[in-house]
Amino acid sequence: MMLQFDIDAVQTPYYVVDERLLIKNLEVLKSVMDRTGCRILLAQKAFSMFSLYPLIGKYLSGATASGLLEAKLGYEKMGKENHIFSPAYTESEFDEILQICDHILFNSFHQWAKFKAKALANGKSCGIRINPECSTQEHGIYDPCSSGSRLGVTLKNFRPDLLDGIKGLHFHTLCEQNSDALVTTLNAVEKNFGEYLYQMDWVNFGGGHHITRQDYDIETLVACINRIKQKYDVEVYLEPGEAVALNTGFLVSTVLDLVDNGIQIAIMDTSAACHMPDVLEMPYRPNIIHSGLAGEKAYTYRLGGPTCLAGDIIGDYSFHTPLKIGDKLIFCDMAHYSMVKNNTFNGMNLPSIAKINSSGQVEIVRTFGYEDFKNRLS
Ligand SMILES: *Cc1c(COP(=O)(O)O)cnc(C)c1O
Repeated sequence: MMLQFDIDAVQTPYYVVDERLLIKNLEVLKSVMDRTGCRILLAQKAFSMFSLYPLIGKYLSGATASGLLEAKLGYEKMGKENHIFSPAYTESEFDEILQICDHILFNSFHQWAKFKAKALANGKSCGIRINPECSTQEHGIYDPCSSGSRLGVTLKNFRPDLLDGIKGLHFHTLCEQNSDALVTTLNAVEKNFGEYLYQMDWVNFGGGHHITRQDYDIETLVACINRIKQKYDVEVYLEPGEAVALNTGFLVSTVLDLVDNGIQIAIMDTSAACHMPDVLEMPYRPNIIHSGLAGEKAYTYRLGGPTCLAGDIIGDYSFHTPLKIGDKLIFCDMAHYSMVKNNTFNGMNLPSIAKINSSGQVEIVRTFGYEDFKNRLS
């Protein structure tokens, strides 16, 4: 990959999102909207770099939130359609939600009954999250359809007698998947809940659609959306998070020290545990520009973070030339599920946040320091 920005413009560690790459993704998503008339929302839990919300809002219909605080951010910084889903709302937060959200999704008929009067009195478009009990993936932790799941109403718990006032059904069952998994899921949704779709104004297909990935089959997605729209006379929503920011960002870091303990170890100024927790949680191995798998190139290193956690290891990587203290390494695809999940364990500072503007210039958006660490403690 050709480096398209000046990596020395900001002190490491920093996340940098390339607006040009983000626009490419947004254009793909916009083309799906244009071809189908569907509405696409940013799922903020994956990517909340709000300095880019005005740009994202030029292409997408709005944002969705996993709770009150994200909903406030979407309201303040994007100001378009503002949806919210939560497994359970509290009385105290619900009044605030009424001020800022237009679509409110409920995870149970209990919750719906509890908040129905307030929601309808305030003119909200309300929906129920359903669970089609159709697993299309292996990763239990990311599968809302696994048995015993708390996410979505199953057919057994569905209450057709309580649908009065409900305008939409929502399902979210996918994670980094192609449109074949959507076809399978829609079949299960229609089999279990199809008869209720006729009385809805909208259906939300959730997130997990890897629409901007190179091999994603967009034609099948478009056909699915158009078919559901026509058959049930509903609006269709999609709410991808990852697909918005996929392959648009990097985490740039510096080699702080080199240690030989039977293997070559490089200690970086970035931490898997603090700055890219999905590397340990998913888990996965991020790509590094100009690197290979362990043993593939001449010099192999285990890359670790500067925290006390023994397992704060990013992975084993090989390089054509030996690493030197001060070398910079660029981790790829670090825009989504990175900034939103980072933390200051060990008193680690948070990476700065930068963007590459449309003329290729690096701009620092935000730096962090002691006050940010201190302010979330007491
Ligand atoms: C996580 C989530 C999304 C976004 O998922 P991605 O995998 O980032 O596309 C959308 N909707 C709901 C309800 C979610 O929980």
